[in-house]
Amino acid sequence: MTTMTTNRKTLMIPGPIECETNVLQAMGEPPKSHTAPDFIKAFGNCLNMMKEIWMCPSGQPFLVAGTGTLAMEMAAANLIEEGDRALVISTGYFGKRYADILERHGAQVTILEAPLGDTVKTSDIDAVLQQNNYKLMTFTHVDTSTAVMVDPASMGELGRKHNVLTVLDGVCSVAGEEIRQEEWGIDIVLTASQKAIGVPPGLALLVASPKAMEAWELRKTQVRSYYADWSNWLPIMEAYTAGKPAYFGTPAVSLVMALEAGLKNILEEGLEERFDRHKKTGKAFREAMKALGLTLIPKNESVAANTLSAPYLPEDVMLPDFMQAMGDAEVIIAGGLLPDIKSLYFRVGHMGSVAHTDLMNTVRGIARALNQCAHKANEDDGVLAIENIMTR
Ligand code: PMP
Repeated sequence: MTTMTTNRKTLMIPGPIECETNVLQAMGEPPKSHTAPDFIKAFGNCLNMMKEIWMCPSGQPFLVAGTGTLAMEMAAANLIEEGDRALVISTGYFGKRYADILERHGAQVTILEAPLGDTVKTSDIDAVLQQNNYKLMTFTHVDTSTAVMVDPASMGELGRKHNVLTVLDGVCSVAGEEIRQEEWGIDIVLTASQKAIGVPPGLALLVASPKAMEAWELRKTQVRSYYADWSNWLPIMEAYTAGKPAYFGTPAVSLVMALEAGLKNILEEGLEERFDRHKKTGKAFREAMKALGLTLIPKNESVAANTLSAPYLPEDVMLPDFMQAMGDAEVIIAGGLLPDIKSLYFRVGHMGSVAHTDLMNTVRGIARALNQCAHKANEDDGVLAIENIMTR
């Protein structure tokens, strides 16, 4: 990571994450008018870069002030009408949230819940989609509460087979995990600025396929959310893409300038290189946790996310003691999130510009904290596991 010039702790939680210096500098400029030529250019660049990063050249990007939850709600509000059936594939906390949002917008929701640490079998989803006429299916690419990753390509395939719109919650995956929206036929891919995108929180980002835009155009009833309604936002996105200003709600000008820098960083690294780097980082971190004697929530490598990890604590270590012991480390990590097991595990984000040394410091900090809690863990084994993979 290139930003750390002070001795402050490194943020290794699953979002917000550390930002590169150029992102922070762009954010720190005096606010611009949303009609200023350089702002118009930056906004247009962001929209074009989103299509490139989402790998969705024919998609319609939306960039609005808000968090990832707003991006989730925007998809639901614009695509659901009263009584439509929606299927939620849930692999943790954020699946339940999507079900609540869809219900709020009038959908009849069915939830398919994965066993803890696993995904729902494709054949089970196929069977449910066969039974009823669903309009839309959501899935969480990486659920931040479990670190379980779903295969988006197979979801896109199911969506096409059953003519169901597919919505990928990519808040913990876009720009970290591999996503090929157009090739995989995913109708909505949404995220927020504060995770693998590498920008402070405050922007909701979404790209809609032509099929999703058509479904919205064919609505018979008005969108129930005023702020999320594409009727209000589409003219704004079109204007900025065409190099003209337009107003609906004041854009988060400083965040948009930061986003432009962040998206440029991603494209400069290269998408394939970035996916590979995250795969390597994720693998290294999981191996290090295993070397310390910890087990992970994802039941095997094929469902394990690369943007974050969720290790269980050993039975003899209590979370509050462990988190207190982590206070001495150079890094900040997160506790559990899934209500039923939240005191039994912790979470570490390793997405965006996380560096080899950040991983090392994190593993060292965890090993020391475990030992401080009277649980034997060999720091060197953890560090070696990281080395073995990162220097390959
Ligand atoms: N979905 C997932 C997978 C997330 O990780 C999060 C945030 N942790 C959200 C949705 C909601 O995003 P936000 O907190 O930005 O509203």
